[in-house]
Amino acid sequence: MRKKIVAGNWKMNLNLQEGVALANELKEALAQEKPNCDVIICTPFIHLATVAGITEGTVIGLGAENCADKEKGAYTGEVSAAQVKSTGAQYVILGHSERRAYYGETAEILKEKTKLALANGLKVIFCIGEVLEEREANKQNEVVGAQLADSLFDLTAEELSNVILAYEPVWAIGTGKTATAEQAQDMHAFIRGCIAGNFGEQAAEEISILYGGSCKPSNAKEIFSKPDVDGGLIGGAALKCADFKGIIDAWN
Ligand code: PEP
Repeated sequence: MRKKIVAGNWKMNLNLQEGVALANELKEALAQEKPNCDVIICTPFIHLATVAGITEGTVIGLGAENCADKEKGAYTGEVSAAQVKSTGAQYVILGHSERRAYYGETAEILKEKTKLALANGLKVIFCIGEVLEEREANKQNEVVGAQLADSLFDLTAEELSNVILAYEPVWAIGTGKTATAEQAQDMHAFIRGCIAGNFGEQAAEEISILYGGSCKPSNAKEIFSKPDVDGGLIGGAALKCADFKGIIDAWN
């Protein structure tokens, strides 16, 4: 059975003290009621080491939101996969549409980042998704298929077993406009088919594919009820413990 997962992406929100308070609140809430899925929080780099001290020994996994495409050295301001790992984090989000759009992250760069993250023992939450014009032109499968092929298809099946996919239609991120459960299911089934075509049926059956884009407690249950949706990558609603917990509870 593949893993059910709810992962939060804090983005560039919350100062260190606010992040610590949110992590503690979530730890408390999940200690009282064990979740029916894996729970991960992905935080800004500066929060990682401190939040690792809070999540250690709990059901909460911890991840970064990015890492460098270089191993180490004179790359001022960058944070390497090895450095992320050394904080106690176990995951890293790569390929988020905001990184692709605002920081020029290409498929080649993401391929490098993915290889380095995996080589350093991190699990990768790899984001894919089309923009509105591509959806309107009915090109979403073509776009998402290419994003997968161009960054991930050189991995071994063993490496892929440490990758979680997140389908995030860009038009649904932070807009309040959610994909319908049917749109999510159609795309997730397509993605699973692409994985089967390149890595085989077993890899496709085992990989978790999360939905992301304006997911909230009120719509999570319906989206998660679809057979190829294995959970969610949550932005805005991950910043409030009650909302995030409400989405986690969609698996109950
Ligand atoms: C995201 O950015 O990964 C995301 C899903 O954001 P939101 O939930 O705010 O749409």
